[in-house]
Amino acid sequence: MSAAAVLVLTACGSDGDTGQAGQAGEQGGPTVVAGFYPLEWAAERVGGDRVEVSSLTPPGAEAHDLELAPQDVAAISEVDLLVYLEGFQPAIDEAAESEAGDAAWDAGQAADLTLAAEDHAHEGEEAHAEEEAHAGEESVDPHFWLDPTRLAAVGDALAARLAELDPEGAATYEQNAAELRADLEALDAEMQAGLADCAVDTLVTGHDAFGYLADRYGFEVVGISGLSPSQEPEPAQMAEIASLVQERGVTTVYTETLVDPAVAETVAAEAGVQTAVLDPIEGLTDESAGEDYLEVMRTNLATLQEGQSCA
Ligand SMILES: [Zn+2]
Repeated sequence: MSAAAVLVLTACGSDGDTGQAGQAGEQGGPTVVAGFYPLEWAAERVGGDRVEVSSLTPPGAEAHDLELAPQDVAAISEVDLLVYLEGFQPAIDEAAESEAGDAAWDAGQAADLTLAAEDHAHEGEEAHAEEEAHAGEESVDPHFWLDPTRLAAVGDALAARLAELDPEGAATYEQNAAELRADLEALDAEMQAGLADCAVDTLVTGHDAFGYLADRYGFEVVGISGLSPSQEPEPAQMAEIASLVQERGVTTVYTETLVDPAVAETVAAEAGVQTAVLDPIEGLTDESAGEDYLEVMRTNLATLQEGQSCA
């Protein structure tokens, strides 16, 4: 790409914008804004040096309940590609529809969201019913990235989308996505091997984030707080889960990095078992048990091997 074209793109991207969002990549590739950490990480891996990626969810913020500042909405209206996950962050869904136009790219299409949201018999059901009526279809579990193979599929699709926006970078994006896929498949193989023979098959977690992980590696997941951590469980629901913990010989109830552990700790105390931290990787902070998605997933693997008594 010529220097003139780079200048034009940079000028467009930084127009009226003080933040990182909207700046062109060093080599003049497209600007990308991602909804939250795993999408940001995948976009950075696939885009490489050609693409400047920023995230709408600040480090340490709870991703589900994200609220957008006016400058975030402005960034979305200017960006070349908005990588988001329909049904996960309602504020971004709204901005994608009203501001992003053709730049909106729903990672859920490539991730193949096959798991339905579990029908929780507690608060939130009315909200679910409303959502379903609005969408005209059953609501799905959005937490696909905890199955590394689904994240690899998103990387491949993202490479194809970036190549449409920046044909000169097509070979680079394809190569980067292939390297990302290799890393994710190696992780998947480690998880398959490490979780193949576990004494406890029931996974009791803070919120219902681990459905795709459970589906891939042979666990049955029981989320204490439903699909979003802001859904507070009824005491009766917690008591029910505590007795299920005892019945199934569960030894560990999992808390999360970005969510108050009180609810999971209450269930664990009631059942007389321990807690451990399992990270749904909805965000990354200095306290995260790893520098990136791959490292935190390997920490999760070690936590699960111990907590589920795997051979
Ligand atoms: Zn979640």
